Amino acid sequence: MALLIQPYTLSGESLLGYLYRSAFVNHYKHMGVLFKLFGIPRGLDISLLSHQVIERISSYTGLDCETLTSLSLNTLEREIHDKAIFHKILYKRGLKYCPACLRNTPHHRLAWNFEVIDICLEHRIQLLNSCFCGKKVNYKDLIKSTCECGHDLCDVPICNVRNNTVIESQRKLLELIMNPSQTTSFSNLSLSNGIQLIFASLYLVDGMKSHLINVKQVVERTKKESLSSGALLIEKIAMVNWMYTNFPINFKSVLEDFISREKGTQKFWKKTQFEQLLMQNDFSEINEAYQQFWIEQLTKGNRRRVLRVISSRHIEVDEEVSNSPIIRQQSFNETKHKNNRITLIEASLMLGLDRLYVRKLVNVGYLEPMIHQGKRYVKIESLLDLIVRCRGAIIVEHTQRITIREILMRYPGLGLSVISLIGLILEGKLTPASRRPNSSFNDITFDIQEVAELIDNRKKDCMNNQFSIPLNY
Ligand SMILES: [Zn+2]
Ligand SMILES: [Zn+2]
Repeated sequence: MALLIQPYTLSGESLLGYLYRSAFVNHYKHMGVLFKLFGIPRGLDISLLSHQVIERISSYTGLDCETLTSLSLNTLEREIHDKAIFHKILYKRGLKYCPACLRNTPHHRLAWNFEVIDICLEHRIQLLNSCFCGKKVNYKDLIKSTCECGHDLCDVPICNVRNNTVIESQRKLLELIMNPSQTTSFSNLSLSNGIQLIFASLYLVDGMKSHLINVKQVVERTKKESLSSGALLIEKIAMVNWMYTNFPINFKSVLEDFISREKGTQKFWKKTQFEQLLMQNDFSEINEAYQQFWIEQLTKGNRRRVLRVISSRHIEVDEEVSNSPIIRQQSFNETKHKNNRITLIEASLMLGLDRLYVRKLVNVGYLEPMIHQGKRYVKIESLLDLIVRCRGAIIVEHTQRITIREILMRYPGLGLSVISLIGLILEGKLTPASRRPNSSFNDITFDIQEVAELIDNRKKDCMNNQFSIPLNY
C-alpha cells in the first residue's frame, strides 16, 4: 500500500517533520492514523525508529530505507553508546525553528533537534521555540509556517548572532553531530566523549567572565531581557571550545580563573563534577594537564596552606650519607640508643615533616612520647616503626604514582591531612612505596588509581553527609 501523494524529502528535513508533512498533504487530520499504519507504537521515542518501522514507512512513501534513516537520529544514537549522553544532546522542550529557513521552505529541519545547537548557521539567528503570541510551535504550525493564532511564523522578532567565536563553535559541534562517526578535533575524542567533555567542562566555565574570551553579547537582544537559556548554553559551549584550543594554555587559563572565582562548597562541587570525567582513561591527556596545573599552583605558592604542611627543610649534610631517616637513625642509635629516645626536632628531621606534625603524631598515638627530666621526647622504636610502615615497598618505577604533598594539593576540601593520610597507610587503605630504603616522607608515593578510588569513596561519603565537608578553602 502506498500514500496517494508521496512528497519528496526537502533539504535537511527531519524524518518526523517529513511524516507530518506527508500526513498534511494527504489530508490526514491526525497523525495517529498514519502512525498506526507505519506501526509506530504510542509513547515511543519517535526520534528513533526501528528498521521494521522504517521499512513500513518506505513501503508507504516510496522512499528507500537508507534515505529515511538519514533523516532520522538513528545513526547518531548508534554512535553514542551512552543513552544518557544521547538524550543530553536532544532538545526536549518542544520544537525549535528558524523563521528565515521557514520563509525559504516550511519544513522541519533535523538540525533543529538539539539542545546544544541553538542557532541557524545559515542565517546566523537564534532558533525560536514559540510564536510571537507565546504559544509553543508544533509540527503542523511549522509545515504551514503559521501559528494557530494566525500569526505568520516567518514574521517574528529575531535575534541575530554576530559573535564569530560562538558561530564557529556551533558549526564545529553541529558538523560533529551530523557526522557522528568522525572523531573530534580535540585529542581524537569520539563524539560521545566530546559531548561528555563539553558537559563536564561547563562546570568550570560556568560564571566565567568574558575577559578570557569575548563571547558576551552572543545575541543582539531586541528587547531588554535576559539571555535565554539556549543563548547562555551556546555561549558556555563556545567557552569550552576555546578552552581546548591551544591546549593546554587556554585550559590552564580557565582553571586559574576558576580557582580565583569560585568559593567554598560550590567550588568543591563543580570541581568534583569535572574530575569525574578525568577518572576515565579516554581523557588521560586532559587529566595530565589538569594534574600539572595543580602542581604548578603548588610551586607558585598559591596554596600556602598546603605548602606549609610538609616541611621543605633539608638537612645540610651529605646527600649520600645522612639525608635519609634510616642512616640518620643509625647514627642516632649509636649515640643515643641507650636512652631509647630522641627529641621532637630530631624526629621531625628524620621524618622530613614539620615539628608541628610530630606533636600531632604523638597526640594521635602514632608516636610514643617520653618525658625525661621534664623534657619531651619520642621513643625511638615507635619512630622507626612508623617510618618503616609508611615507607612501604622499595620500587624503582614511580610513574603513575603520587606523593603525599600532591594528594593534599589535588584533593583539597576533603579534610585530608598528612596525619589522616598516615592513618590511612597504617590502616592498610593506602599502599605506600619508596625509591630507597631511606626515603623521607616527601618521597613516599602511592598508586594514582588507588588514591583516586579512595578519594572517590570519600567524596561519596561527603556527598551523603554534606555537613561533613570542611570549608577549608
Ligand atoms: Zn535559518
Ligand atoms: Zn501564535
